[in-house]
Amino acid sequence: MTKMYYNQDADLKLLEGKRVAILGYGSQGHAHALNLKDSGVDVVVGLYEGSKSWEKAENDGLRVLKVSDAVKESDVVMMLIPDTSQKEVYERDVKPFLKEGNALCFAHGFNIHFNQIVPDNCVDVFMVAPKGPGHLVRRVYLEGKGVPSLIAVYQDYSKKAKELALAYAKGIGATRAGVIETTFKEETETDLFGEQAVLCGGVTELIKAGFDTLVGAGYQKEIAYFECLHEMKLIVDLLYEGGFERMRYSVSDTAEYGDYMVGRRIINEDTRHEMKKVLEEIQNGEFAREWILENQINRPVFNAMKKRELEHPIVEVGKNLRKMMSWIQE
Ligand code: NDP
Ligand code: MG
Ligand code: MG
Repeated sequence: MTKMYYNQDADLKLLEGKRVAILGYGSQGHAHALNLKDSGVDVVVGLYEGSKSWEKAENDGLRVLKVSDAVKESDVVMMLIPDTSQKEVYERDVKPFLKEGNALCFAHGFNIHFNQIVPDNCVDVFMVAPKGPGHLVRRVYLEGKGVPSLIAVYQDYSKKAKELALAYAKGIGATRAGVIETTFKEETETDLFGEQAVLCGGVTELIKAGFDTLVGAGYQKEIAYFECLHEMKLIVDLLYEGGFERMRYSVSDTAEYGDYMVGRRIINEDTRHEMKKVLEEIQNGEFAREWILENQINRPVFNAMKKRELEHPIVEVGKNLRKMMSWIQE
């Protein structure tokens, strides 16, 4: 069984007398900063001058400084700016100001695992990654509970990095729910695989293929949209709440029988074979190299694909149908 860590396994005292710099005040940043502050931790937020988030953080009662100044006066530095900006900000505003024995922390492993950020030997490097968006991390904390999270230690200079990671996890409320230990490698590779093969890439192509098949056979686009995209949420909610069992309990027996008979013809051996190739390209660094170089040349492929996807007929029909749904705000 995977080992789980809870409140009693973590000691907030390890953060006493230490200041934590939260770099970035977006989804994760605001939740980490506010939860830590409410847990009694000394927090400063680091942003760039002119950031939209600056005023927001100040209005939430936090002290805000330029990234370099926040790093200078802190002991623990948590990187919660977009992954694609972290390398540049690290080189310019973080690395020169980190001191021996400080901790450099992440909520996702990409930049460390793929060597975009190579920390000096004299700091701890660890991860605390909530398995949920920031607004949930904050809301659940205020309710006296927490969001399950992952921790990982990449570099243990102080010989206390794991204890410190657990203390941080406690500070954001994660140990109230439970914390699982992983590695930067495991977190990064599984995160990329999940979003590419299943959650983002897999789901959108599945929806599009279903939609195209129905529309191609002469059915109305609106009906195809409802069946292949709109109803996805009902199914996903059931899966989220109670796994396959609950979904299959809730749908009709006809739907359940169709699920058993047809699912594996759609996601077949070829698909599983392709998934293995996708995973291999993540593991061997090919995907990371491509994405890093793509960013360095201003994202030509990303932008072309984005434009092409917006031209798919499902976009237009969806826009119109969602106007009929008073409960969804644009
Ligand atoms: P967001 O995009 O929500 O927030 C980014 C924040 O960083 C904003 O406050 C932004 O300011 C600020 N920022 C942008 N550029 C800079 C810069 N150059 N210097 C200083 N601050 C900057 O990020 P997320 O919270 O989504 O992601 C942060 C990290 O958390 C990532 O590593 C991500 O992988 C990880 N993560 C995210 C999860 C999520 O649910 N979103 C879940 C788990 C991990 P401005 O307002 O001015 O743009
Ligand atoms: Mg991801
Ligand atoms: Mg139906």
